[in-house]
Amino acid sequence: MLGTLRSIVQEVDAAKDLKAALGVVVKRVQNSLETSACAIYLLDPETNQLVLRAVDGLKIDAIDNVRLQTSQGLVGQVHTRAEPLNLEYAAEHKKFQYFPETGEEAFSSFLGVPIVHHRSVLGVMLVQSMERRRFDEEVEAFMITLASQLAVVLAHAKATGTIQEISRQGADALVRFDGAAGAPGVAIGKAVVVFPLADLDAVPDRPARDHDYEIELFHAAVDRVRRDIEAASSKFSSKLGVEERGLFDVYLNILNDNALGGEVMQKIRAGQWVQGALRDVISEHVSVFEMMDDEYLRERATDIRDLGRRILSYLQDVQHEVRELPEQVVLVGEELTPANLAEVPRDRLVGLISLRGSKNSHVAILARAMEIPTVVGASDIPYRQLEGLEVIIDGYQGKVFPSPSQELRARFNEVVAEEKAMVSGLEALSDLPSETLDKHRIPLRVNTGLLSDVARSIQRGAEGVGLYRTEVPFMMTDRFPSENQQEEVYRQHLEAFAPNPVTMRTLDVGGDKELPYFPINDANPFLGWRGIRITLDHPEIFLVQIRAMLKASEGLDNLRIMLPMITSVTEVEEALHHIHQAYQEIREEGYDVIMPAVGVMIEVPAAVYQARELAQRVDFLSVGSNDLTQYLLAVDRNNSFVADLYHSHHPAVLKALKSVVNKAHLENTPVSVCGELAGDPCGALLLMAMGYDELSMSASNILRVKSAVRHVTLKQAKQLLEEVMLIDTAGLVESHLNAAIKELGIEHMEASL
Ligand code: PEP
Ligand code: MG
Repeated sequence: MLGTLRSIVQEVDAAKDLKAALGVVVKRVQNSLETSACAIYLLDPETNQLVLRAVDGLKIDAIDNVRLQTSQGLVGQVHTRAEPLNLEYAAEHKKFQYFPETGEEAFSSFLGVPIVHHRSVLGVMLVQSMERRRFDEEVEAFMITLASQLAVVLAHAKATGTIQEISRQGADALVRFDGAAGAPGVAIGKAVVVFPLADLDAVPDRPARDHDYEIELFHAAVDRVRRDIEAASSKFSSKLGVEERGLFDVYLNILNDNALGGEVMQKIRAGQWVQGALRDVISEHVSVFEMMDDEYLRERATDIRDLGRRILSYLQDVQHEVRELPEQVVLVGEELTPANLAEVPRDRLVGLISLRGSKNSHVAILARAMEIPTVVGASDIPYRQLEGLEVIIDGYQGKVFPSPSQELRARFNEVVAEEKAMVSGLEALSDLPSETLDKHRIPLRVNTGLLSDVARSIQRGAEGVGLYRTEVPFMMTDRFPSENQQEEVYRQHLEAFAPNPVTMRTLDVGGDKELPYFPINDANPFLGWRGIRITLDHPEIFLVQIRAMLKASEGLDNLRIMLPMITSVTEVEEALHHIHQAYQEIREEGYDVIMPAVGVMIEVPAAVYQARELAQRVDFLSVGSNDLTQYLLAVDRNNSFVADLYHSHHPAVLKALKSVVNKAHLENTPVSVCGELAGDPCGALLLMAMGYDELSMSASNILRVKSAVRHVTLKQAKQLLEEVMLIDTAGLVESHLNAAIKELGIEHMEASL
């Protein structure tokens, strides 16, 4: 069954359009299960009817003509209940209805399964048989599995069709793709798709600008591959027999103009750029081979794919460099990373769209700090077809509008104007203290990464840096920055904020933050080699960083060092040992520096339980609520499929936060929060009420939080906390907070996320 399933899915993938794909499914299901008929009904969202879209074994002219209400007949029953229906004798079921148009009167048995994508039922797939039988469990499991795969194909086809539709209709069609809000703001620009190199599947569609030139590039790349293969063939000639060497010839022949090469040229002449043409031809040939029953031939699919990749890598050598960027770039990628942001000059980068990721991904956090409107988790966008299209990004709502109409553009320009007015209204607060109506002070610090964050943060009245993500400058280079380079960047930060403190977190890579020159291959990156685990394993990296920080602090004395991802007391002791070693060295080298305060981030459950023991060993604690939420709730902060389950207001998270502050204060150790929760006005009020000594957030949220703090008394905040701590679900906490902010008159200050 598994083999059949796989080959059906491959055949479906290779089908030229959705109609053909559905045709393949019904035919192959019918043959494999030896049933009498197979049919697929799909929901028409406009009429809300189930329409027969493919059949085998029923009247073919019924296709597109049979329409059922969603509650009608057995098909309707499967749709409404979203569960399989397996009947030995269909006519006996109370919902049975006979549809003469399909010619189904002769059938006895019925098995229908829903086609479900992301909780919505897209249609129903069914098989019927003449003889009275109950379809066995294996058949039922097969149908359910196939329907789940078909759902993905349908969702993709729908999205692809939408893009094609707008390309045909021009700017009048209002089409929208939904994702999650990654960073607030609205942007209008041209989509530029980033894709991993030498990955055929990631190559986007682009028009061929000059057919002859593209064909020339193809021939040049093929020649280079040919030379590589010939070189390999002659290298092995003494070790290989005639037959094996023949395999190299097969390879070379595939590349001839009248074989695969000819098809590539045809596609280029039809308008596709050379990389896209190669992608299509290779994928068509790979699917044909993969579907073959003969194992030897099936294996040849690997050879063709490999050949395609080799050609592609030579094409990309040439084409990667010559890319011209539009004035206003909206960067689009399957999974954008912080490193991608460095590929486009800041003055051209107006927006980001990432198919994967959530608002807690590092790319979103960085985008917020850089104030680049961003949509994440827009998993349905056929992004490869967006290249070159004008798009609007709504980073408030997490929506993307390709090829917008004039009218839509005007509407969004209004939103931008309103936002500007609101921010300038808050700017008056920059120089006022962050204190409640009853004079409780809570310092608001800023989270930084880039030097460009500095000026904006100071302008908005940040009282120092609560989290400097030092990995960000590491991502902007193509190798580890030297001690001197680091010292220079750190010094600029320290000088800019002096005498206020600058809390520098030691290198925190791993998880969703990779350095291009330091690959980490973890199957489970958030539970793997990350943060302090890496730097303790590489003292040479750690010591250089600490030395650079210490040297940079000479004469300023406003450095604080913070350790990320601590899960045990041992890690803290080891890190402190290195920090003391670096300090001694620097002093011996003649630098007049003081020992900085050292702190620990509380971002995993183990650290929550041991917060007191950790507090005994360091000068301060700071809660990374982003990671703490992910680890407490077991929700990958980067995975858009579970983003709905990620709640920083979850009662379990709030209880953990309260417990950390209590334990830290038992040791008289100051404690702050530097995760995104601190930048949410409501979150900030709750944290203040819990007793947190300071909060750190991205510059874009400082004024909103300050405004909220200045609107309430500490007593009111404590009252709100008391009410919230009694609630036992995240949803209810959120609705309670929404009601409270209205009552307190701070609803307009809602966080920029
Ligand atoms: C956190 O985890 O809350 C945090 C502040 O660190 P980062 O978001 O960089 O992982
Ligand atoms: Mg973290």
